[in-house]
Amino acid sequence: MVQSKHTRTSLHRKTPLSPGGPTATRADRARSEPMAVEPLGGGRYDVVTHDDHVYTVTLPESRCTCPDSKYRGENCKHIRRVAIDVTERRVPAPGQEETPCADCGAATFTPEDDDTLAYCPRCTLRPGTYVRDRERGDVLVVRDTTSERADETAIPGADHTVASYPTNGEYAANDVVVDVLYPLGSDVDPADLDARRLRSYAFPRGRLERLD
Ligand SMILES: [Zn+2]
Ligand SMILES: [Zn+2]
Repeated sequence: MVQSKHTRTSLHRKTPLSPGGPTATRADRARSEPMAVEPLGGGRYDVVTHDDHVYTVTLPESRCTCPDSKYRGENCKHIRRVAIDVTERRVPAPGQEETPCADCGAATFTPEDDDTLAYCPRCTLRPGTYVRDRERGDVLVVRDTTSERADETAIPGADHTVASYPTNGEYAANDVVVDVLYPLGSDVDPADLDARRLRSYAFPRGRLERLD
């Protein structure tokens, strides 16, 4: 089954980022005024102000639909607020979109127009992590999480990709590929060590359960 990634438009609450004051500058107000930033894709963002005006900021061109920007050419507080939210990773940068982590659902930022399953930093399997193969129950150790997709990675010596391999039929074809090794037990003949160390296997990420 191909599980396609979807963009979740979360309902960002209008929040001030810092307290304001009567002498606040435009830069101060960008932080102190309650505003909600909604990413629209293509580097555009809607900014909802405290009195429910909606202005659209095009970040790469530093443009906003408010009068300050439109007629006076100012770098208005809406543009500044979007830039702050991007820098502090509350909204995706231009060219990225918000995608739920395929394992835990946490918001992650991924390139637009890429439907490969996404994993948050916590669910990305690092080298040395122990995992369980959901099909066979074996405990394996992660060699690396690749940037390859299961349906685009050929299995050497087999007429299959990782996605089309018979035992991987239950897992998403657009999943990422993880290289794993079988850990060496104490019963292994030292003469076999080098050969076995070199042998790694490619699995779709969804087939592996992280063991904490
Ligand atoms: Zn503006
Ligand atoms: Zn996650």
